[in-house]
Amino acid sequence: MQLIQNAKRMQKLVLRGKRDGKRIVLVPTMGALHEGHLSLIRRAKKLGDWVVVSVYVNPAQFGKREDFSKYPRTLAKDLALCRREKVDFVFAPKNLYEADHSTWIEEKKVSQDRCGRSRPDLFRGAATVVAKLFHLTQADVAVFGQKDAQQCEVIERMVRDLNFLIKIVVQPTLREKDGLAMSSRNRFLTPEERALAPNFFKVLRLAVRQPKLKVIPFIKRELQRWGFKLDYVEVVKGKLCAAVWLGKTRLIDNYKIRW
Ligand code: AMP
Repeated sequence: MQLIQNAKRMQKLVLRGKRDGKRIVLVPTMGALHEGHLSLIRRAKKLGDWVVVSVYVNPAQFGKREDFSKYPRTLAKDLALCRREKVDFVFAPKNLYEADHSTWIEEKKVSQDRCGRSRPDLFRGAATVVAKLFHLTQADVAVFGQKDAQQCEVIERMVRDLNFLIKIVVQPTLREKDGLAMSSRNRFLTPEERALAPNFFKVLRLAVRQPKLKVIPFIKRELQRWGFKLDYVEVVKGKLCAAVWLGKTRLIDNYKIRW
């Protein structure tokens, strides 16, 4: 496994690989890797010849009052996990933006509701960095997690609208045994909050069994009862999508519905 921290070097290496016919699979991450990320990596291994895992906490997708400086950075541990998974390259650049960077990708439809409403910088930053990573790794395939359902929708739309020659693969959400979706931010939960957190997913799962008109009121009532502060709950494309605050930590999740 090779650690690459320089963007030009990354591009040179993959171009050489492409000339030799290698099919390149990218797994974009912000590091602090957990089993959820590893499930993406294992899927990626089956989809091509070289797996590139990018580890980059993208400043452009954090709002001014968000947790960019607090976001966990655990590169040594991430590298050990990637080595164990037989990843070919970890691309962990220190910075991907020129000081006067001024070009952005803005998706104007599927990015507008849900997380896009409460985090207005999120998808412009995410789409832009993902486009940069696609160019820098020359990936044929990229694997994303269903946990960030809206991010998948935005990236799929960008790929379609801007004619990227890349296949997007979406991997199901990996959960802790108690149902909590794995996330790098779960480590911010206090022990008391961690004990309450699985109720978020439990409420979503129970809600889909309610009569259609009662689903949203049920979720609002139950989440409040467990001490969550609701950011949003919306039904989009056959999924119940929600975000909540538990103390200072924001959790997102989604669950398939049948209507
Ligand atoms: P992040 O490092 O949080 O930006 O996530 C990097 C990628 O891993 C994204 O495509 C996420 O959707 C995906 N991911 C994060 N958590 C999970 C999970 N619990 N199950 C599956 N994929 C996940």
